[in-house]
Amino acid sequence: MSETPLKVVILGSTGSIGCQAVEICAQYPDRLEVVALAAHSSKKLLAAQAAELGVARTVLSQVDGPGALVELAELPEADLVLNALVGAAGVEASYATLKAGKTLALANKESMVVAGDLLMPLARPGQLLPVDSEHAALFQCLLGEDTSEVTNLWITASGGPFRGRKRNDLLAVTRAEALAHPNWSMGAKISIDSATLMNKGLEVIEAHHLFALPYSRIKVVQHPQSCIHSLVEYVDGSFKAHLGVTDMRIPIQYALSYPRRWPAAFDASLDLCELGSLDFSRPDTETFGCLRLAMEAGEAGGTLPCVLNAANEVAVAAFLNSQIGFLDIERIVETCLAGHCREDVVSIEQLLAVDAETRAKATELL
Ligand code: NDP
Ligand code: MG
Repeated sequence: MSETPLKVVILGSTGSIGCQAVEICAQYPDRLEVVALAAHSSKKLLAAQAAELGVARTVLSQVDGPGALVELAELPEADLVLNALVGAAGVEASYATLKAGKTLALANKESMVVAGDLLMPLARPGQLLPVDSEHAALFQCLLGEDTSEVTNLWITASGGPFRGRKRNDLLAVTRAEALAHPNWSMGAKISIDSATLMNKGLEVIEAHHLFALPYSRIKVVQHPQSCIHSLVEYVDGSFKAHLGVTDMRIPIQYALSYPRRWPAAFDASLDLCELGSLDFSRPDTETFGCLRLAMEAGEAGGTLPCVLNAANEVAVAAFLNSQIGFLDIERIVETCLAGHCREDVVSIEQLLAVDAETRAKATELL
């Protein structure tokens, strides 16, 4: 096979998703050519990755500023931008990537949560490839189907490290306990979001935008084994599910190989007989109020998901810094949402202003 390699930009290359993407690119040098890498603060790791992959162009956003990330997203030679930044810091890069007509492989779910109303109208079919495992699963279950024949999207949730606990049990949980996800190894922010179930709420909003379905038809089912990554239910009663081992290299690689599939470079076999059984139950939105808040903010729409996300980012950072308790995350998000006057989303500038305002408010509430 002598196709020209896909020219790839990796934003957030030093993070959990970014490092796995670098690994995949190193495994497929004839198919993937990395033309630029960006990180925020991990200077040494970024330099080592650039040396390994032979990449001339790197950005350290802490030094070069966020505008340098947008420049990479717009690089004329790039075909695909993998946005693996964490938080709303990824919004402008997602927007610039789509605007420049390049394929966006999206791990940075926060950019879809905050700016889905602006991003989706820019994306032509096949230009936006979800990396988040649930959305990569839904995307694959929807291939060759007509969305008008979909009854429901079912997003699976592991339940996180505190599944089965009640609110009283959550009062004194520690940072280390919250970071210990049972099934996935991920960056710190998404690990805390998984413990509060905010992550699932963000994913419902992400799915609403990506697949253009109303919230009433996006369901969450708790499935502790995380073996089924999500399901689509069709009008004829058929369900299509996507299964696999819990390894993000699978959805990252698929976004890079799409519409082809390449062999996994690690043992990705799933032993169903060994697994034995799969469990399903309803998520507990009484205990995990962040899931409920996210679904309400999504339903209300406009600038509310931006507020939800910004307040959550501040609260999660404070929890990781041992400044607040676990349940304070929900309190801060709820207070910021209640104090915000919803507007329709009209521009990135408006969202950046709402984001900044909310961060200031959330910081006062710590
Ligand atoms: P990490 O925290 O591991 O990595 C984040 C990356 O973004 C790092 O490269 C970091 O740079 C960079 N970064 C951090 N802050 C900023 C900033 N203010 N401006 C620019 N760059 C910044 O995160 P993950 O890899 O876990 O997650 C990345 C995204 O993917 C998130 O949106 C997450 O929700 C999503 N995701 C992650 C999954 C996972 O398994 N990890 C699964 C599904 C989705 P540096 O380290 O150099 O400071
Ligand atoms: Mg996910």
